[in-house]
Amino acid sequence: MTLLTFRFAPSPNGELHLGHAYSALLNQKLANRAGGRLLLRIEDIDTTRCTPQFETGVLADLKWLGLDWEEPVRRQSEHFGEYRTVLDRLIREEFVYPAFMSRGEIRAFITDSEKRDWPRDPDGVPLYPPADKALPTRERKRRIAEGVPFAWRLDVDAALARAGGDLSWTEYTDETLSATRLVAARPQDWGDVVVARREIPTSYHLAVVIDDALQGVSHVVRGQDLFSATGVQRLLQELLGLRQPAYFHHRLILGPDGRKLSKSLGDTGLAALRGAGMSAADVRRLVGF
Ligand code: GLU
Repeated sequence: MTLLTFRFAPSPNGELHLGHAYSALLNQKLANRAGGRLLLRIEDIDTTRCTPQFETGVLADLKWLGLDWEEPVRRQSEHFGEYRTVLDRLIREEFVYPAFMSRGEIRAFITDSEKRDWPRDPDGVPLYPPADKALPTRERKRRIAEGVPFAWRLDVDAALARAGGDLSWTEYTDETLSATRLVAARPQDWGDVVVARREIPTSYHLAVVIDDALQGVSHVVRGQDLFSATGVQRLLQELLGLRQPAYFHHRLILGPDGRKLSKSLGDTGLAALRGAGMSAADVRRLVGF
């Protein structure tokens, strides 16, 4: 029997807070209960927002909490070559296209009076306008040669046509992981998502599906805030022929104001709580362990 494999995958672009502690401890509890593995992956592809200092803090906080992961830690910024290979394949197979519109240009496009009801993704961001998808190859090459900035975006219609019919994923109904349901994936709700940038040959979605497959992750346990993003990841897995894990999207730990915690909320940061005299056991209790 193959070992069940769980992972905790923080981005070192700020300090860990109680929500991260809950997610990490839940993964640990489930891995232990299953006699499985717990991996730690540092998702640091955003080389401007992620810093070695934040990473040091993340590792120190997790050790302090008592998290016990398998070495080595996978650091995404050390694997750009692997992501590049996969991206090249998507380019070759024409599932991605160079998208040249800046944020300002997108804004201008949708404020055009006829497009008042332009669709937005589940995060409220306007879907990418269709113009670049239809650009002739000659024009794409000209702009790239001229150094016009661009990102590689997924042609979601072409990808869905290839993936065919019903895309879904297996979602556990609660943290006992005893029952599952099938969830219909709706990647089209996100439009043509960014798959890579000119200087970074991947995006969050692409790196996650590559790494989950490469690391043999069987169970993705993460916050409810990533629930609908799973649809995009299922589509990429299907396009790339990657094995799909089962998912559980857990409740979020909310702040005193009932809102999602953010990395700038110092008072719920693990380092701040430790500084205020809390023990790791206090934090575990605080998030329900
Ligand atoms: N790195 C992501 C985050 O910190 C989590 C990705 C995932 O669990 O799939 O929000």
